Amino acid sequence: MTPPSDIIVVGAGIIGCAVAHELARRGASVEIVDERPVGMGATQASAGVLAPYIEAGAHGPLHDLAVRSLDLYDDFVARVSAESGSAIPYHRNGTIDVALNEAEMCTLAASADALAKRGVSARLLDAAAVRAEEPLVGDVVVGGLVIDTHGFVAGRRPTRAPRNPAVQACGTAAHAAVSRSCTPATVARSSKPASSTVAPTSMVPSSHGTK
Ligand SMILES: Cc1cc2nc3c(=O)[nH]c(=O)nc-3n(C[C@H](O)[C@H](O)[C@H](O)COP(=O)(O)OP(=O)(O)OC[C@H]3O[C@@H](n4cnc5c(N)ncnc54)[C@H](O)[C@@H]3O)c2cc1C
Repeated sequence: MTPPSDIIVVGAGIIGCAVAHELARRGASVEIVDERPVGMGATQASAGVLAPYIEAGAHGPLHDLAVRSLDLYDDFVARVSAESGSAIPYHRNGTIDVALNEAEMCTLAASADALAKRGVSARLLDAAAVRAEEPLVGDVVVGGLVIDTHGFVAGRRPTRAPRNPAVQACGTAAHAAVSRSCTPATVARSSKPASSTVAPTSMVPSSHGTK
């Protein structure tokens, strides 16, 4: 009989997989429980935009958590790519917020000021400069704000990492057993980005042995 897991993680989305992965790296045996295959909840819909400065709301604890999460992404992606043997498309190529009128431009200017005070690199652009950055924007755009530190991470690729048997087990079993190994799912980019918050879903200590 397989020995009981140290920890059960409920939910095989990006959060559950990331939590399980980190626990396994620290030596725990971890089991992920989900009725769906890996990454088939909200994670499959995500566009992968990593943009806390425009998506994580007003400055506060959630915003700080999302910014800290973004700061961890370089190492996180490098480590998961190396451990899974599967390259994860990931770029810190910035975002452009566009303004369609002067009032929106004032809002972007206020954001740029606030970010500058926090030492975050952000550039206000006029309409021509926005079009130079992104030729597909329409004529109605009057300006924009580039936030250089923002990024993009692609789809559910890590959850499909072919060389990681733990992930294959997660992806095919309703009640997947994962021991000391799991690869996180990631999220992808959209035209309407969301925050890059990383927070645990449900984790409960495991004392059962019903595998
Ligand atoms: C259209 C869209 C676009 C998005 N774009 C972005 C983006 O650009 N950037 C960004 O950062 N975020 C984006 N997001 C948000 C992002 O997808 C989510 O924040 C993220 O995927 C949440 O991950 P999760 O692991 O918490 O949830 P999920 O991926 O939903 O995983 C939760 C899992 O838990 C399982 N589960 C739930 N209850 C139970 C239970 N009782 N027992 C067992 N299993 C259970 C579910 O089956 C599911 O598989 C987007 C979301 C959507 C919908």
